[in-house]
Amino acid sequence: MTTEAASNQLAPNATIGIVGGGQLGRMLALASAELGLKTHIYCPEQDCPAAQVASAFTAASYDDEAALAVFANTVDVVTYEFENIPVATVSHLGQHKKVFPSAKALEVAQDRLAEKSFMREQGFAVADFFDITDKTGLEAALAATGGSGILKTRRFGYDGKGQWRLDKDSDLAAILAELDARPAILEALVPFEREVSVLVARGQDGTTACYDVIENVHRNHILHSSTLPASLSDGTRKQARAMAETLAGALDYVGVLAIECFVVGDRLLVNEIAPRVHNSGHLTQDACHVGQFEQHIRAIAGWPLGDATAHSDAVMTNLLGDEVDAWRDKAAAPATYIHLYGKAEARAGRKMGHITQLSSKS
Ligand code: AMP
Repeated sequence: MTTEAASNQLAPNATIGIVGGGQLGRMLALASAELGLKTHIYCPEQDCPAAQVASAFTAASYDDEAALAVFANTVDVVTYEFENIPVATVSHLGQHKKVFPSAKALEVAQDRLAEKSFMREQGFAVADFFDITDKTGLEAALAATGGSGILKTRRFGYDGKGQWRLDKDSDLAAILAELDARPAILEALVPFEREVSVLVARGQDGTTACYDVIENVHRNHILHSSTLPASLSDGTRKQARAMAETLAGALDYVGVLAIECFVVGDRLLVNEIAPRVHNSGHLTQDACHVGQFEQHIRAIAGWPLGDATAHSDAVMTNLLGDEVDAWRDKAAAPATYIHLYGKAEARAGRKMGHITQLSSKS
């Protein structure tokens, strides 16, 4: 091991700084606690889910350089739990402490045009895509895709926000008015048979631990359920895992990286990457020897990665909005693990918790 890697190994009782305070930060903080590590959450909102279970909490905005500096100086390493934090925040924190994953992964993941271009450079298939800046460009792109496609803002889109499905009857002028001059791409529609994700952890020394491929079902653009393992041929499964390891290496990535793909026959097309733990990976908490949250903390703390193999098959279902009201029944179901995020208000579509149901390994 290099001196550099050894110097980044944290001992128990060290403090992990987590930027962002949602459920991902909460489960990262809980996993840290299991390893005897403390956490300090940095988040603009008071009473965020992560702060409830962390050792320390700073409520300040992402551009408050003074608060960021104080935060960085109280922690031993920094990570983040969502990809829409400004790259400038990560760069600023990086002047004080190591930040994993690096700003490079964040830059690629934040911009759909950069993301798709990067995938192509790495030799991976993606849907045909076109950079859109005006109506003429959109019309030309639609002609090239056969008249249909999905228009997506390049930045800050999630859970279907900033997306418009277009066909020959779409009112382009109205959609462009809604787009309001934000940079966008048009993607050809992929006639996928299934959607899958593959999660890989990469340590500071370049070792990797890849989870088996997970199959995902979205409803209203939000993840509804995830199943481990995905129903795929061995060849496609191997291809997905090799792709994840190649991408993590190409980004010199440290932490857990999620890659979402469309499956068409035996082809995989990358849809997007997330430089963080991922909703589809929640089932690894209960179905794998070492789940994604602990794995991420191990990677950024310079610890050995854990065993990512599954001891059980699993189905994870999100509890959105008032679905969480059924928590009592869910909690009583056999072979079921319930995780609630401590959110006070169950707004429609809000991720309030999830359940994971295990079954014998197939
Ligand atoms: P995204 O925000 O890119 O993850 O897209 C949300 C969901 O929209 C995906 O999980 C797919 O179900 C669907 N979708 C996105 N892009 C495409 C595409 N090019 N072709 C078909 N379906 C898509």
